[in-house]
Amino acid sequence: MKNLKIAIQKSGRLNEKSVQLLKNCGLDFENYKSSLITSVSNFNLEILFLRDDDIPGYVEEGIADLGIVGENVIDETESNVAYLQRLGFGKCTLKLAIPRDSKISDLKDLNGKSIATSYPVILKNFLEEYKINADIQTISGSVEIAPGLGLSDAICDIVSTGGTLKSNGLKPFADVRKSEAILIAREGLEENEILMELLQRIQSVLRAKETKYVVLNVEKNNLEKVTELLKGVKSPTVVPLAEEGWVAVHTVISEDDFWGKINKLKSVGAQGIVVMPIEKIIL
Ligand code: ATP
Ligand code: ZN
Repeated sequence: MKNLKIAIQKSGRLNEKSVQLLKNCGLDFENYKSSLITSVSNFNLEILFLRDDDIPGYVEEGIADLGIVGENVIDETESNVAYLQRLGFGKCTLKLAIPRDSKISDLKDLNGKSIATSYPVILKNFLEEYKINADIQTISGSVEIAPGLGLSDAICDIVSTGGTLKSNGLKPFADVRKSEAILIAREGLEENEILMELLQRIQSVLRAKETKYVVLNVEKNNLEKVTELLKGVKSPTVVPLAEEGWVAVHTVISEDDFWGKINKLKSVGAQGIVVMPIEKIIL
């Protein structure tokens, strides 16, 4: 079978997690920082290491079959690719921000103002949607210094913690777009067997990440209260302990309601609670 090619970021915020995801899928490859391409020894896949901005275009043109890239980059390049799976990392928000003492207080106040950004396409579409007529100043980096230099009245940039905004005297003003890393494919690849296999592996890794394996001990007369709390997961496994009257309960719970559940389980008599990571969940 012909190998597929997947493009991932060569270096930067998405590189490490993209590599880790593929390794967690059981793919064996050398992560040569210096080369552009590496092959996977135990799967029909080659990995291309590229600048993130180039990934959607390579996939659209079919030079790569698949790619892992931020949704923001796909939108900005207006590429025609298939969205296959959100990957849960590289989360960030493209925001409008203004100087702390700015008089701008409503989106409408941006009319006639200038906004510096490295995302002119996303910003233009956003402004059109809200019928705002502002002047877009495209700059490629360090957008947050533009207002201080008198270059613009506002900026539109990626914010994850807000620290950079603050240290430049800016405050967030409105969200333009949320983004996370996503698996994309060239159009027409959807039914490909290698892709189906890879996608199944990726989804089982993602599912496992959201859940924990929990083992706990409880006296038999409290078992019902414990299983009541674990409703919603498939019926837990209950096994007798050597000590008369006690059982061990094994189950899988979601990361989201983890702490709430653990504390309630303790309050109905669960003891020796052990929580373990899950590597993969195959449905
Ligand atoms: P390249 O050299 O590949 O062009 P880059 O400098 O354009 O890299 P990075 O800063 O590595 O890009 O960011 C890659 C992606 O990570 C972004 O496009 C975005 O989707 C995501 N991301 C997550 N958090 C942040 C953040 N705080 N700042 C910037 N990007 C972020
Ligand atoms: Zn880039």
